[in-house]
Amino acid sequence: MKSLLMTFVLCIVHLAAISQDKYRLLVITGGHGFEKVPFYNMMDSLGNFSYDRIEQPKANELIASPDIDRYDALVFYDMNDSITLVQKQAYLRLLQKGKAMVFLHHSLVSYQNWDEFQRIIGGKYYEKATLVNGNSVKSSYQHDVIIPVKIENPAHPVTKGLADFEIYDEVYGNFLTQPTIRPLLSTTHPGSSKYIAWTNPFGRSEVLFIQLGHGPEAFGNSNYRKLLRQGMEWSIERHR
Ligand SMILES: [Zn+2]
Repeated sequence: MKSLLMTFVLCIVHLAAISQDKYRLLVITGGHGFEKVPFYNMMDSLGNFSYDRIEQPKANELIASPDIDRYDALVFYDMNDSITLVQKQAYLRLLQKGKAMVFLHHSLVSYQNWDEFQRIIGGKYYEKATLVNGNSVKSSYQHDVIIPVKIENPAHPVTKGLADFEIYDEVYGNFLTQPTIRPLLSTTHPGSSKYIAWTNPFGRSEVLFIQLGHGPEAFGNSNYRKLLRQGMEWSIERHR
């Protein structure tokens, strides 16, 4: 009887351990500064996830290796330009297979010279003035602003339970979006492009991008945390 009880207790402990680490993330940074302590405090607060941290350019080496299969989702908070042909092919292969990828904030600025990247993430931030369909486009940013956020699709699992909110954060202006995006959030802030979160189908994947998330004020915002938690849960479930 005693051993039966012990087995039962051990099973419960084992189940608890499994449910605590339900999802395994790879959190990718590098190429842009950020406040690490509040960022990882936010990551720790989301629950239901365990994660490994890696910085670029090491992350792209891992992405091009079989070890990347250990992760349920890749979370990009990097701003990186260096990528080899083999690594580009690895991104494309993963997306064709249906890998969960979540891109945050300044990751929109990555890979200025890799055209395919904007079709993956669903938009492009132009660091330098560039001719696009005959027009000169240069993107912009503005720190420390109060951004009115409108929920574009309240029925979506990423935004469920959220009402329109305000957040103290950074806007990006004059960036372009792909016609394929499925908008989740928008803003009327004059310094921002309209859509500030979306999903974008690519291969068998549907990438999630959230423009918000510059610093501690955003990391501590309960709406932002909910968005991120639901975003990562949706992304993983969508690609199982
Ligand atoms: Zn920023």
